[in-house]
Amino acid sequence: MRTYPYVGPAEHLARASVATAGRPVTTAHALAVWLSEQPPDDVAEPFTYTVDTGLLLRLAPRRSEHVVCSGGVPVIAAGEMSFTRQGGNWEVDGVTNQSTGYCPDPESWAAVHAALETAGVEHPAYFTHAFTFRRCAGCGHQNIVRDEYFFCALCDEPLPP
Ligand SMILES: [Zn+2]
Repeated sequence: MRTYPYVGPAEHLARASVATAGRPVTTAHALAVWLSEQPPDDVAEPFTYTVDTGLLLRLAPRRSEHVVCSGGVPVIAAGEMSFTRQGGNWEVDGVTNQSTGYCPDPESWAAVHAALETAGVEHPAYFTHAFTFRRCAGCGHQNIVRDEYFFCALCDEPLPP
């Protein structure tokens, strides 16, 4: 699996450490415990997740920076994940690769899938939204490509296909 180094603003990386890292979720029980600790209004919203190179899934509250969730290390997947309760168990009902800090490819699904299977957490068959990221060679801006439009949102330079 491909490893993604952090490519976002340096001030976020400066705040990231082992102490800030998100909660490791290695079992369905760990997921249920973590969700029970979140403010009830937040449980319906997507959470920040990362998967590090040891296939460890970490969760952090919504709007947490991915690099803070990971503890500042490279990842093999990152994005947002939401949950719903089915028959007493929590399962994933939404999952994306949306992380402008790491810009993981849609192929990072393999890492998310492996981490959720290991934890025994039910999940969709693939990302419910898959994003394509491209860095502009002209200005360095990290773009999210929409509708196959491969041009920089800031400077209109063509992006790598
Ligand atoms: Zn540009």
